[in-house]
Amino acid sequence: HMTEETMPAYIDRIRRFKPRFIQAYPSIAAILARYMEEHDIEPFPTVKAVLCGSENLYPWQRDLIREAFGCRVFSWYGNSEQTVLAGECEESTRYHVFPEYGIVELIGRDGRPVEGPGETGEVVTTNLTNFVCPLIRYRTMDAAVLGNAPCSCGRAYPLLEKVEGRLQEFIVTKDRRLIPMTAVNMHSGVFDNVAQFQFYQKREGEVLLRIVKRPRYTEEDTAWILRELGEKFEGDVDVTIRFVAKIPRTRLGKYQFLIQDLPLDRWGISEDEKEWRTESG
Ligand SMILES: [Zn+2]
Repeated sequence: HMTEETMPAYIDRIRRFKPRFIQAYPSIAAILARYMEEHDIEPFPTVKAVLCGSENLYPWQRDLIREAFGCRVFSWYGNSEQTVLAGECEESTRYHVFPEYGIVELIGRDGRPVEGPGETGEVVTTNLTNFVCPLIRYRTMDAAVLGNAPCSCGRAYPLLEKVEGRLQEFIVTKDRRLIPMTAVNMHSGVFDNVAQFQFYQKREGEVLLRIVKRPRYTEEDTAWILRELGEKFEGDVDVTIRFVAKIPRTRLGKYQFLIQDLPLDRWGISEDEKEWRTESG
């Protein structure tokens, strides 16, 4: 809902609230930052840092947000299952894994821990704070790169050079709002009879939803899915469903939930980064 029309109200509200920190999805903070830059709006004097999580933070977003807000951007990595928490320190942009919160392993395609700095593996985690429902060696489906050498800040924490897993995926509405895929996730059992699914977009306000059915799938599932998506998209995206036999995985063996064919560079994601995103899956 952050549009040209509503943005002044958000900015006014933030200014009156006088926050010291802003915690946001980078995609959202970037939309606000771009608006502030385009309209020569001064940074909020009280804000000391912008804390970004839940999505990949792209370098262009970091620069844009830092410029517009006039302060440092810190990225952190965690999940709602609370098995991993990692964040940047004051001296670097590497992720410091908090070992008292959870144990983090990076597991390679051969099922063994990756060795040596610069190696990429899947983030496999064991939480140390949840005594009710412990998750042991829990696969996050995120990929990360092992860090090298201790950080100059002196904290003796394991380091991740970068987290590649939360690859930012947007669906573009008819009025060019960007809806992150993280906002589209549906927990309510809608996809119970769906084996695999994938969104594909090549026109604003339209998506194709590819579905691999489970045996119990019926017309009722189709109606339910369309109804749920209609609510998520608030009618701003037309959804067409196509049934397919198989949805291929990416090179890293992950599912890609959205294939975005629109040139999102017009909204901020450059072609280079889009290619990088596609390659790293
Ligand atoms: Zn550090």
